[in-house]
Amino acid sequence: MRKDLLKLMLSAVLAIFAGTLTARKDVTVEPLRISTQQRVPSELEKGSLTVTNTIENWNPTQTAIIICDMWDKHWCNDATARVGEIAPAMNEVLTIARDKGVKIVHAPSDCIDFYKNHPARKAATKYKDKKIAALADGSKLPSEKDAKWPVDQSDEGCENRDCKPHKAWSRQIETLSVTDKDLISDSGAEIGAYFKKTGIKNVILVGVHTNMCVIGRSFGLRAMKRMGMNVVLMRDMTDLMYNHEMSPFVDHFSGLDLMVEYIETYVCPSIVSTDFTGKKQFAFKGDRRPRVAILTAESEYRANQRLPEFAHDLTLKNIHCDFALGIPIMGDVKKDADEKLKAEYAAYGMPIDTDGKTAIPTRHNLENLQILEDAGLAIVFIRRRALESEKMQAIKNYVASGRPVLGIRTASHAFDAKGNVPREGGGIVAATENTSDMLAQWPEFDNDVLGGNYHGHYGHLKTGTDVSLVPGMENHPVLKGVSKFNSPNWLYQNSPLRSSKITVLLTGSNPGVPDEPVAWINGKNVIYTSLGHWDDWKIESFRNLMFNSIDYLLKSNK
Ligand SMILES: [Zn+2]
Repeated sequence: MRKDLLKLMLSAVLAIFAGTLTARKDVTVEPLRISTQQRVPSELEKGSLTVTNTIENWNPTQTAIIICDMWDKHWCNDATARVGEIAPAMNEVLTIARDKGVKIVHAPSDCIDFYKNHPARKAATKYKDKKIAALADGSKLPSEKDAKWPVDQSDEGCENRDCKPHKAWSRQIETLSVTDKDLISDSGAEIGAYFKKTGIKNVILVGVHTNMCVIGRSFGLRAMKRMGMNVVLMRDMTDLMYNHEMSPFVDHFSGLDLMVEYIETYVCPSIVSTDFTGKKQFAFKGDRRPRVAILTAESEYRANQRLPEFAHDLTLKNIHCDFALGIPIMGDVKKDADEKLKAEYAAYGMPIDTDGKTAIPTRHNLENLQILEDAGLAIVFIRRRALESEKMQAIKNYVASGRPVLGIRTASHAFDAKGNVPREGGGIVAATENTSDMLAQWPEFDNDVLGGNYHGHYGHLKTGTDVSLVPGMENHPVLKGVSKFNSPNWLYQNSPLRSSKITVLLTGSNPGVPDEPVAWINGKNVIYTSLGHWDDWKIESFRNLMFNSIDYLLKSNK
């Protein structure tokens, strides 16, 4: 990242000396900061997936957005209405992207005749490439071989029995502006040849429908992947053809979430429009499901595996989940990287070696915090992170708004980074110091928000921790289906809890030491549990505790 910046600065200097216009043009190119999300097989656990993010810097002149089938009219009236709803937001993204130098490709299938005299159409027909044409193939990728398709769309996905499939479209919806700088084509061979000739490497797909054309057209996600493009789906600028009366019998928008999950697992990463607009991501008005923001950054308890699995189950219960993930930002390059930190970055899929030197990224970052803006519940499973002050402020604003919080395990020391905070000019802040010049901490989160009093833990016992219901709490709604169980966790010390607003639900017991509270409600809408080991999620009582907590907190927000 730094190196690219240096190169840019160097080329700026060169341009001034050379006085050439083309070189000067390069200088003004500001990279696009793209935050991708994908699901990759876990290295720690066979069969399990990890949700990961990466931050990438894309050259806008090597980037294109393909708009798939945003027709003026669909045979399904509901689909037409949703296209109409998303189009103004999409046009805003396209306008910003175009201004930054991104190539906009309009691909309204079967409507190309409408544009036959448009310069953007003529530009698309200039190049041909036999090799690329052979790759313009939207059939399933080898990576999808054993994948289960997430929704049954055999009824064509209309929720209204009055609609009958027919060609209802004649052009792209007028809301999306087409300029002479753009490209118009519904042929993957044409688009791919153009990309190859003009050096476009990064492709963003927007439009409809994720489970049909977006993935499967000759210019769709699979075909772009086959052509070797760095392709991503903009997951808040798309829709699904799916009827909730078909398997898996979920809300239309939960079906869309499941399809995005499929794409992130088997096809390519996804991004949100926030990368262009700086605003929160788009949501359809008809999507009335509760929205849960899952904030996670830790590498001890596999939260980035367990929480996505939990989120999948919540999706099936028609609860929308978004992730704000801790991803290291590549920072200072140092020769002697800390082995433990290196392992942590590796767990997030971050490169740790560049140009023969070891790069130490700062792990003190959370991506995607704009999801808090319309979240009805925040789940926090973070360990010892400090954040840029505006990011910490976004979390504080959420809490101050009075909306519910579910804290899990390390949440008690989520924002108490101790000695790990990088300081401007290199080095780390001493353990006794609370904040660095660059980053904000919030050690009071435990006390002030969760009602906790974390001050360490007992030893790692092979016998684990026995968890019991507090007498009198057996009928509490959060403990429905929860009975005495043994947890693999080492016991956190939180006694004495200091808030009078706390209702303790579960206690944990180790031999020879006092029992400790391990799950409680603080006030009306905060629940915390010090449990949350990766194997806890396999215990029915713990899973019920988590599902009940979500229900309880979402209800408290109504
Ligand atoms: Zn319909």
